[in-house]
Amino acid sequence: MRLKGKVAIVTGAAKGIGEGIALKLAEEGSNVVVSDIDLNGCKNVCDKIEKKYKVKAITIKCDVSNKCDVENMVDRTLKKFRKIDILVNNAGIYPLKPFLEMAEDDWDKVLDVNLKSVFLCSREAAKVMKAGAKIINISSIASLIGYQNLAHYCASKSGMNGLTRAMALELAPKKINVNAIAPGAIETPGLKKVFNKEVEKQIISMIPLKRIGLPEDIASAVAFLASDESSYITGHVLVVDGGWTIQ
Ligand code: NAP
Repeated sequence: MRLKGKVAIVTGAAKGIGEGIALKLAEEGSNVVVSDIDLNGCKNVCDKIEKKYKVKAITIKCDVSNKCDVENMVDRTLKKFRKIDILVNNAGIYPLKPFLEMAEDDWDKVLDVNLKSVFLCSREAAKVMKAGAKIINISSIASLIGYQNLAHYCASKSGMNGLTRAMALELAPKKINVNAIAPGAIETPGLKKVFNKEVEKQIISMIPLKRIGLPEDIASAVAFLASDESSYITGHVLVVDGGWTIQ
């Protein structure tokens, strides 16, 4: 158990990749704050954690783009656990919209939920984090290559990579490591909303390892970056995509 006794906040943890990360961190011995706008989903994940692992888990409803919600999430975490060792900025949205039809509101929503949130959550958590703490941002391969109908999303995730490097520099004197993971296509409720079977087949044919990834594939990488084993890695963007972007 690489994370015994640690305290982790995972945002967007009610389902999908966030749920996979929350379960993996618990398996590794960390107490977990399961946070999302979907409180029922959070409760289900908490139940799974407490049934399976000998750690504590609590749910906190938080819209990561809302400063008051974020402050409340950090306050409640400190009241319950007295510290924050790991922050996983996972919450994110990817609604498809052609560039020429993209309204200002579409742009603002995606940038707020995917990028401003990382600034808000990381700043709040980093104020109280101690040496050895870790911040892990869930980016996307859309931060590295362009995708149709996702201009706002691509911009938000590229921004996240830049923010990861800048935070890594500024937080290095406090010995807080900041890294990002860039997943390829991962099987989640969110992805099911934008993929049909035909698109899925096409995508699998483009992935050298010939499968869509699972939340566990991302969770394993998060567990490594959250552990002391990665203490000399900071400001890095780790691609986890079955080889999709190496061609
Ligand atoms: P998902 O299945 O849609 O799950 C995301 C969770 O975040 C949902 O519970 C969602 O609630 C919640 N959420 C949405 N807006 C929020 C907000 N403002 N504050 C807090 N929580 C919020 O998504 P996913 O596929 O697991 O994606 C998770 C992360 O991985 C995202 O950052 C995404 O960009 C990134 N990613 C995913 C893939 C992929 O292929 N799945 C690939 C690359 C990167 P509701 O369901 O109620 O909206």
